[in-house]
Amino acid sequence: MVPEFANEPLTDFSLPANRQAMRAALQQVKNEFGREWPLVIGGERVTSGAWIDSFNPCQKRELVGRVARAARGEAERALDAAWEAFPDWSRWRPDQRARLLFKAAELMRTKKHVFSATMVYEAGKTWPEADGDTAEAIDFLEYYGREAIRLAGPHPLTRLPGEDNDLMYVPLGVGVVIPPWNFPLAITCGMTAAAIVTGNTAILKPASLTPIIAARMVELLEEAGLPRGVVNFLAGSGGEIGDFLVSHPRTRFISFTGSREVGTHIYALASQVQQGQRWLKRVVAEMGGKDAIIVDETADLESAAAGITTSAYGFQGQKCSAASRAIVLEPVYQDVLGRVARQAEALRQGPAEDPASQIAAVIDEGQFNKVLSYVDIGNREGRLVVGGEPDGSGNEGWYIQPTVVADVPEDGRLAQEEIFGPVLSFIRARDYPHALAIANNTEYGLTGGVYSRDRRRLEQARTEFQVGNLYFNRKITGAMVGAQPFGGFDMSGTDSKAGGPDYLQLFMQAKVVVERF
Ligand code: NAP
Ligand code: MG
Repeated sequence: MVPEFANEPLTDFSLPANRQAMRAALQQVKNEFGREWPLVIGGERVTSGAWIDSFNPCQKRELVGRVARAARGEAERALDAAWEAFPDWSRWRPDQRARLLFKAAELMRTKKHVFSATMVYEAGKTWPEADGDTAEAIDFLEYYGREAIRLAGPHPLTRLPGEDNDLMYVPLGVGVVIPPWNFPLAITCGMTAAAIVTGNTAILKPASLTPIIAARMVELLEEAGLPRGVVNFLAGSGGEIGDFLVSHPRTRFISFTGSREVGTHIYALASQVQQGQRWLKRVVAEMGGKDAIIVDETADLESAAAGITTSAYGFQGQKCSAASRAIVLEPVYQDVLGRVARQAEALRQGPAEDPASQIAAVIDEGQFNKVLSYVDIGNREGRLVVGGEPDGSGNEGWYIQPTVVADVPEDGRLAQEEIFGPVLSFIRARDYPHALAIANNTEYGLTGGVYSRDRRRLEQARTEFQVGNLYFNRKITGAMVGAQPFGGFDMSGTDSKAGGPDYLQLFMQAKVVVERF
């Protein structure tokens, strides 16, 4: 009997023993800096002569490690290996596949801090952010294992006299899993686990900015007993092997999480039926957000300000769920703005490895320049209140101060485009209907929040606020697997609801068998 799912507890770093364990893990990861990780194709370690270098965003010349870079030849081999592994793996019983995920979860639990420490260095995640990422990865393994068992059970159908009707879910085939760098373990692990526990085999193409943590995860799956070829680890450029795999006639499905730009490109490319292709490709694409928190005059303003600050600046604002718009009703606008500005200014920024740091550096030079360009736009469209400056800690990493821009017009670029950094726009609303209209005035629809004590207003938002994940009187980040299935509307994606009961069906097709007795 599998015990009921429960979320993995977060680590309490105020306890000396936990701090000590995390320090030891950071040291261990540091000792391995520069390690070279090969591709894994059909269980074979493969190098290509070319490498992807992975650097520490907080110490930009520090090489965390290198991962072999695949080109089309390796991609073709990975497709061969995955299809070769498919007939056997797809016939494993779902509970047997689930057991492998449970074993992987247990192994990950035992070396939890090593996974977190890898993300501290490779992604610039602070200790609690990295710990949350690892806990979520464990949750996905545990939750999808249970879901696979549940979906293998009977599915009630109307009985017809003299006939037996049976519905079962069967796997699709070989899929390509393409995760982003911002939850480089949780999302990578969740998408991969879902793809394989349902009987598919997969090619995992990690984000090029965070390939080491993905390589570590693949190593762990092997340690848990994953047969060769079930997950093929294929680091490489999205534009090159990504496009090649997405458009390949032997690819059956694509599971993507990332930007709107790449997601819509993949969606279009996958829709074209290629010579020799025998199916329509399934595409799950989870994309960006322009997430808003509304605060009205009845709200607990201190709690609202704290919720906005946490949602806007956690992991430097690099979450698809991050608050990037604070929409505040006129009577309390100045008050909330002042509180958030003070809290943002008080955030301690520094290297992610330092447990005192509350926010660290953004992921790389490209993001750094992009975010600063939005600060410029903010200066023109609105009024810079706090932050907006790069660095502060000696040009060692891609640091940008937590930034607040006030009086942003709701149609301006700052209010419409995903920035994906520590930049928060304040927008003034005349009244509550106006606030809701501003919140919905976006092509995205991922997360949203309302701080209010007015029951009618909350109920109005419940139906009218057009987002996949809506939060009342709390932060809008940190959805929990099993409790808060996650996915967005409109240009935020296909609303796949990761970590929920509808997710695994996206990796399967239903087969109905009818027998006349
Ligand atoms: P990205 O630039 O779209 O990249 C995501 C993945 O797609 C990477 O592995 C990337 O590979 C790959 N890729 C790039 N071009 C490709 C192509 N032509 N064909 C196939 N794959 C391609 O996104 P990101 O910068 O990593 O992540 C940030 C974005 O993800 C934000 O927009 C954020 O909102 C979104 N996000 C959404 C969710 C959600 O659940 N809705 C969750 C997290 C993040 P390379 O790294 O090699 O370019
Ligand atoms: Mg990118």
